[in-house]
Amino acid sequence: MVQSLPKTRNTTDHQQLKTYKSAPSSKLSSDLKKSLEESQAQYLRTTQSLLARKPNAAALHQHLVFLRKSRDSYHNQSNRIKSDEEKKQSINAVISSIDEAISSVSRYMVAQLASLGIEGGAAYAYGPREGVNYAIHTAGRDHFQLALPLVQGRLVRQMGDLLCKSSRDFWGLRITDDPHRVTCWACLKWMLKILEAQEKTADD
Ligand SMILES: [Zn+2]
Repeated sequence: MVQSLPKTRNTTDHQQLKTYKSAPSSKLSSDLKKSLEESQAQYLRTTQSLLARKPNAAALHQHLVFLRKSRDSYHNQSNRIKSDEEKKQSINAVISSIDEAISSVSRYMVAQLASLGIEGGAAYAYGPREGVNYAIHTAGRDHFQLALPLVQGRLVRQMGDLLCKSSRDFWGLRITDDPHRVTCWACLKWMLKILEAQEKTADD
């Protein structure tokens, strides 16, 4: 009995040691997970509260640049992860929520453009090399396709053109499941430019 007591304590100490050994890393990963989950919610929350304040084009521009930079940074982090699948998934979930936030801004801008008489919607274009060789996958994008011709300053587009480029330059276009979700950065920038120009005209 007297002998078994220290033995039990030893076992307990040993188990504790084992627990301590693994504790810091699992603690870190749960903290990291929590902070990633918070970021995930925060990107959506700040975007919703911005859009609720009916922001001008400059504020939209600033927010889109912020979202894009954040996305790039998480994307690079995710690419660097080789073995920690759980961490990679948590980071990818943040990326998805940033994409959702960008979509919200895009929907808001499509509605703004429509209210100015600039009608159009998202159209998916394959990357230039995709389709020619199926072994090469270049990511396609959702562009803003004009339903009517547009002349805006030096920007001249025909009906059916994309804001970023003439549709002739793309291999294929198809309608997307969300007509208001534009993910092409060049198209988003054109949308901002048009809104900015309209605000200036309204101020004069
Ligand atoms: Zn585009």
